[in-house]
Amino acid sequence: MREPDTGLFVDGTWAEGPGRLPVADKYTGEVIAELHVPGPGQVDAAIASAARAGEPLPSGERAAILRRAARLLDEERDTVLARYVAETGFTPADATTELDRTLLIFELCAQEALRLTGEMVPVQAAAGHDDSICFTMRVPVGVVAAITPFNAPLSTVAHKIAPALAAGNAVVLKPAEQTPLCSIVIVRSLLEAGLPERLVQLLPGPGETVGDQLVRHPDVRYITFTGSTEVGRHIRAVSGLARTQLELGSNSPTLLWRDADLEHALPLIVRAGYRKAGQVCTSVQRLLVHEAIADEVTSRLTALVHGIPYGDPRAPGTQVGPLISTAAAQRAETLVGDAVGHGSRLLTGGTRAGAVIAPALLAGLPENALLASEEAFAPVLAIAPIGSIDEAARMANAGRYGLQAGVFCQDLDVAFTFTRRLEMGGVIINDTSSCHPDPMPYGGVKDSGQGVEGPGYAVPDMTESRTILIRHRPPSPD
Ligand code: NAD
Repeated sequence: MREPDTGLFVDGTWAEGPGRLPVADKYTGEVIAELHVPGPGQVDAAIASAARAGEPLPSGERAAILRRAARLLDEERDTVLARYVAETGFTPADATTELDRTLLIFELCAQEALRLTGEMVPVQAAAGHDDSICFTMRVPVGVVAAITPFNAPLSTVAHKIAPALAAGNAVVLKPAEQTPLCSIVIVRSLLEAGLPERLVQLLPGPGETVGDQLVRHPDVRYITFTGSTEVGRHIRAVSGLARTQLELGSNSPTLLWRDADLEHALPLIVRAGYRKAGQVCTSVQRLLVHEAIADEVTSRLTALVHGIPYGDPRAPGTQVGPLISTAAAQRAETLVGDAVGHGSRLLTGGTRAGAVIAPALLAGLPENALLASEEAFAPVLAIAPIGSIDEAARMANAGRYGLQAGVFCQDLDVAFTFTRRLEMGGVIINDTSSCHPDPMPYGGVKDSGQGVEGPGYAVPDMTESRTILIRHRPPSPD
């Protein structure tokens, strides 16, 4: 695969733009690429080109292109992984997981393209329609804008552009400014797989300019966005009648009930709290532990977290690399300091060197500490004791977010009680809040978003229903 040229793909051309976007290696700080940022005229041109893309491709062709693109990505695996590790600061293991998920998402969307269908409508129930036939077809919405966050530059991009293309749309992609390189690889793979050029446009650049122009444009019919709640709310406010699917922030809880299988649960919790340096929307940030097992969980987790290798993501064995920026690490340091100031005990970690934060574990999470309500997006986990189902549900539901919760519990009655009581888009029994197999519907409630991802849900959602009514005998005059 060739090195990215300008990274700006408009109306079938890798174009030059007036601005520049330097992309740094997140561990070394070295600038590894400088992409071109479009001017306002080029953003308009990209949307206009997408809007002129013409008749949708037949579904079989859409599926074949997605499958070929996945094969090409797989063939370029080593290049993709190296670029991913450099631009994110995540470990090669995190990169591999995400690339494998991306290939699966492309395959699942290819399958959805083939099964996209409408329904028969029993209009004969209405007077005068004995001889009518009515059915619906799913037709593409037209231009889909996809705006993605920095923390999953392969799989989140895939969860947006693969369903958009599977549904027959053209897509304009604006990746996160910190991690735009993986998007270039994905777009190249689609083009090499035979995707007609107008069906994909790639616009690297700042959200406040390029992204903002995109979401305000009246020809954009559907916006699929993953990012912070603040930007999601802004998009809803300025996007007019465009439909939106918004995957937003969280400070996800995971519950350990008194009968939890700790051998099974604790390694999963460590992974879900600290992988990608905690920069996952479903990362375990609040661990609500039944008071009967709180001491045991606290000491076992302290030992596990203390032993997590962190630092250089490319060093063998590293599990936690740097945060996306030094500013993000400073914010995490502040959140830890605030929790300690409110009475939490720092059990391990929490120190900072540049953008690297030592994996932090806290005991006690006062309800007025910022960590209890804000999203940390950092390798920081706080344990809080719970004494009853009521207390656990109240604490889990506190605050503005509602993405996913995990519940480790053997008692089915307790497990089902939590599935009813937790105000979340997903409740995961016997795994963490971060369990996310790609076929499942995935999305939050409250300030965590609206709509769901998952190929079987996103592909139909990125279409419109067209009703066809056929009268095969002229209606009688009465
Ligand atoms: P962010 O909101 O800062 O940026 C996300 C994207 O929005 C970027 O591409 C950015 O350029 C763009 N953007 C910024 N301002 C814009 C504007 N005015 N108009 C249009 N686009 C604009 O988020 P981030 O820091 O990249 O990612 C972290 C956030 O994403 C966290 O809050 C995290 O919880 C959330 N997230 C949620 C999920 C989920 O599934 N719910 C998954 C991953 C990340």
